[in-house]
Amino acid sequence: ARLSGTGCPRPYNPTLSKKQFRSREIERAMGRALDREEFEVWYQPQHRLSDLALIGSESLLRWKSGTLGQIFPDEFIEIAESTGFINELGAWVLERSVRDTQSLPTPLSVAVNVSGLQMMGNGFVDDLSRVLHDTGFAPSRLCLELTETVLFDGTEDLVEKMRDIQFRGVSWALDDFGTGYSSLGYLSRLPIDKLKVDKSFTLSLGSDPAAEPILTAVGDLCRGLGMTLLCEGVETQEHLDFLREHHFAEAQGYFFGKPMPYPDFHAYAEREKAK
Ligand code: C2E
Ligand code: CA
Ligand code: CA
Ligand code: CA
Repeated sequence: ARLSGTGCPRPYNPTLSKKQFRSREIERAMGRALDREEFEVWYQPQHRLSDLALIGSESLLRWKSGTLGQIFPDEFIEIAESTGFINELGAWVLERSVRDTQSLPTPLSVAVNVSGLQMMGNGFVDDLSRVLHDTGFAPSRLCLELTETVLFDGTEDLVEKMRDIQFRGVSWALDDFGTGYSSLGYLSRLPIDKLKVDKSFTLSLGSDPAAEPILTAVGDLCRGLGMTLLCEGVETQEHLDFLREHHFAEAQGYFFGKPMPYPDFHAYAEREKAK
């Protein structure tokens, strides 16, 4: 580490790591990105396993920055959370997702990711009410996804908000199930309608002998709790066969389709309707 000198103003912070530097660049570009219409919502199909019908989609953010190029959500969501920009961005994603889904040829559901920070903020319930009111979208077609980590340090206040939202007819999915390190006890206390088993379990079917017993046990757990089970990361026919054989309810993954821009998902829904 270099000495910081004798109090002279420095043109830059020499201890800023590459990662911090990148974060600051992203932070700066992000502020203008909504106005510049650089964000897009892409949609990934979700299918019911009993008859393979298309039932809805998950909306996933994409950002093509004019200055930094394509940046994926795994990198920018965290930064948007740290600056508070996630509230504005999250409200935009919600409205975009609902309006797009309304314009599809069949009445599909849509699952929107919600960050824990967004839930902590004061505006979320209002944003949600406004979108549902302005669009007239049936709340039963909307699912909100929260990750385990969020719930783990979730306060009573958070649970209260979740109940309030569920009371309005919107459902809750617990995302990336199995990757956190929380106890199972909270599952019965929280207003959760659906478990989304993390894709790492599906993807290790066939290579890791533990994957099968874990997935079957999660299947039983879900049935016992009266929750719907959705498996992520379904990439192959073998994955699909296993899940159908074990009566899993729903699936999502590259086998059906990758996340795609709205016009492509519209065409996908048209094709599914014609089947
Ligand atoms: P996630 O919610 O767990 O989303 C699933 C991720 O897995 C997506 O990555 C998706 O493209 C990828 N995926 C889907 N099917 C398959 C598959 O069959 N195989 C493999 N290997 N991967 C698959 P993506 O789009 O890069 O999103 C990453 C994460 O960023 C999401 O994880 C979510 O936590 C977050 N995110 C995305 N959009 C939003 C948003 O609008 N708001 C918030 N708060 N978070 C978002
Ligand atoms: Ca998700
Ligand atoms: Ca997930
Ligand atoms: Ca994830």
